[in-house]
Amino acid sequence: PERDREEQGPPAVSLRGLRKEFGSVVAVDGIDLDIANGEFFAMLGPSGSGKTTVLRMVAGFEVPTDGRVELGGVDVTRQAPFSRDVNTVFQDYALFPHMTVAQNVEYGLRVKRVPRAERRTRAQEALEKVRLGQFGSRRPGQLSGGQRQRVALARAIVNRPKVLLLDEPLGALDLKLRREMQVELKQLQRDLGITFLFVTHDQEEALTMSDRIAVFNEGRIEQVATPRDLYELPATPFVAGFVGTSNVIDGDAATKLLGEPGTFSVRPEKIQLHLDAAHVPTHHAVTAAGVVREVVYLGSATQSIVDLDHGGSLIVLRQNQQSSEEGDVAGRGAHVHLSWSREHTVSVVPAS
Ligand code: ATP
Repeated sequence: PERDREEQGPPAVSLRGLRKEFGSVVAVDGIDLDIANGEFFAMLGPSGSGKTTVLRMVAGFEVPTDGRVELGGVDVTRQAPFSRDVNTVFQDYALFPHMTVAQNVEYGLRVKRVPRAERRTRAQEALEKVRLGQFGSRRPGQLSGGQRQRVALARAIVNRPKVLLLDEPLGALDLKLRREMQVELKQLQRDLGITFLFVTHDQEEALTMSDRIAVFNEGRIEQVATPRDLYELPATPFVAGFVGTSNVIDGDAATKLLGEPGTFSVRPEKIQLHLDAAHVPTHHAVTAAGVVREVVYLGSATQSIVDLDHGGSLIVLRQNQQSSEEGDVAGRGAHVHLSWSREHTVSVVPAS
């Protein structure tokens, strides 16, 4: 059902051969991407991978060295930021401290010479959308971090842009507030029906909120997929390593364990650990013996690191409420047998 939206008209954002160089630094190295209307789309990747530069080119703050940016099918590559139907929420919110919350939210409408009465109404509507209807007369300094964040959101949606660009918008919040705001942002996006293009280096945040995610690495996109597909079917070793915890199996270990050369990934929760080889389920085609190096209690789950007799090591994650038929917990130094179903071994070498 998420996909149906893509059939409707031109994409909200289209990037074609997009490239940006800063002197000798290639920040963005030729990117092609389509983002559908109403999609919550995340650009995820490590620091310096080019996400922010892409966002700034969509906003118009940065001119591409090559390639083009289209919004709703219209080429805007050479258009100034204010004439594009987009708005940006910055990590530091960039609120005016001497203005009230309402004045901050109205600001964009004032620049566009919207009449005063309409400005008032629309600012109040935007503040209510972010649950700050009562806070219009305060100044930003009199608000909590989470509330300031929501003022920044209200200010960005008051113009009713087609696309909202968000650059690490939750980066300044503590973990608990961040989790709450993740849920709120998702609700707000659904409610408004605006396309959200979101930059983050936090994989959990991207997985929680997004319809689709593009994983960036060194100015290129490694994979574009739904959170589930990114996790279950990572296309490259980089994605397997960056999204969630993954065991990457390559070289000799791949040949010995799987009977074929290549690079593979298996998620820690797909592997079972047994004290007795006789308990390995018959449908588990892959088995490996080893010694437990470390056991870490994580509350709802226990993580073990096992050094394999064949060389290399694997991480095993076991939910603590699982029954013993689904594997055992073994202490440090125990000799164990690992097993998993062949279908959970994903080839992570891109088909080329
Ligand atoms: P972060 O998560 O740290 O913001 P990012 O993935 O958003 O990282 P960018 O900020 O897009 O990465 O930077 C990509 C590369 O381009 C980096 O090597 C960065 O140093 C470089 N870069 C970005 N802006 C400029 C600039 N104005 N001048 C020179 N180099 C720049």
